Amino acid sequence: MTVSAWTQPRVAIVTGGGSGIGEAISRRLAADGAAVAVFDLNGQSAAETAATIEDAGGTAIAVACDVADRGAIDAGVAETSDKLGSPTILINNAGITPFERFLEISRESFDQVMAVNLRGTFEFCQVVIPHMIEEGWGRIVNISSSSAQTGSFGQTHYSASKAAVIGLTKSLAQEFGRKGITVNAIPPSFIETPSLHRAADGGQLGDGIDQHIPTTPVRRVGQPDDIAAACAYLCRDDASYVTGQTLGVNGGRVIG
Ligand code: NAD
Repeated sequence: MTVSAWTQPRVAIVTGGGSGIGEAISRRLAADGAAVAVFDLNGQSAAETAATIEDAGGTAIAVACDVADRGAIDAGVAETSDKLGSPTILINNAGITPFERFLEISRESFDQVMAVNLRGTFEFCQVVIPHMIEEGWGRIVNISSSSAQTGSFGQTHYSASKAAVIGLTKSLAQEFGRKGITVNAIPPSFIETPSLHRAADGGQLGDGIDQHIPTTPVRRVGQPDDIAAACAYLCRDDASYVTGQTLGVNGGRVIG
């Protein structure tokens, strides 16, 4: 006998769903039975993820949206509500990961990292939580980064934005637990996505991705489906007693 993830239909929003981790999360939530709104700055890649879900028998729409643009967030959430129903699952995954030495980071670059990684997460929560309150149920998963836990050479702005996402997560969990809304963070480490390959190609990962396998306790590189599985768990009905947590999905690279 299988236990379904939800006792009633659910609508999920996944930001950055056109690539990598967000794409895997979108496909997984759809496979578990949610209708998924795939948001991405790149509307074409969002459309491709949505088409993959529909081809597999699921329900999805694509929404071209810059998470740094509040007007686009408002419009995209309204479109989701009209086409799929009230969104009560929110995965804040869209992120940018520049590598820049501290003394060379411009105010513009700092502001852009914060606008996408932190303010985008903050504003999506502000726009979607009222839907969750109305339904008396909600699940938010914020994709942070292990760099928030350990720091990361050449990524001070990025690490700071991702650490702030954890503080935001813990505070929201306290404020909205009584409304049936859980809020958790997943800080991934070393997941094989286009972004990780870009970092490797840019020489940011030493001699390459595979070089890091011997120092990873589970002796492999993480895959987007590893994050999707953890995310799917946190979104289930029966994860209702888990909130304010930071669930490392990192092959043991960061413990504690
Ligand atoms: P990715 O580059 O493959 O995918 C990111 C997606 O976000 C892309 O589709 C991109 O178009 C979209 N995006 C970027 N800026 C956007 C914006 N302003 N508005 C809307 N969409 C936007 O990257 P990924 O590796 O899948 O990363 C996903 C998340 O996981 C990011 O937040 C990243 O910081 C985090 N993360 C990844 C790793 C890893 O090892 N891959 C490790 C730690 C954290």
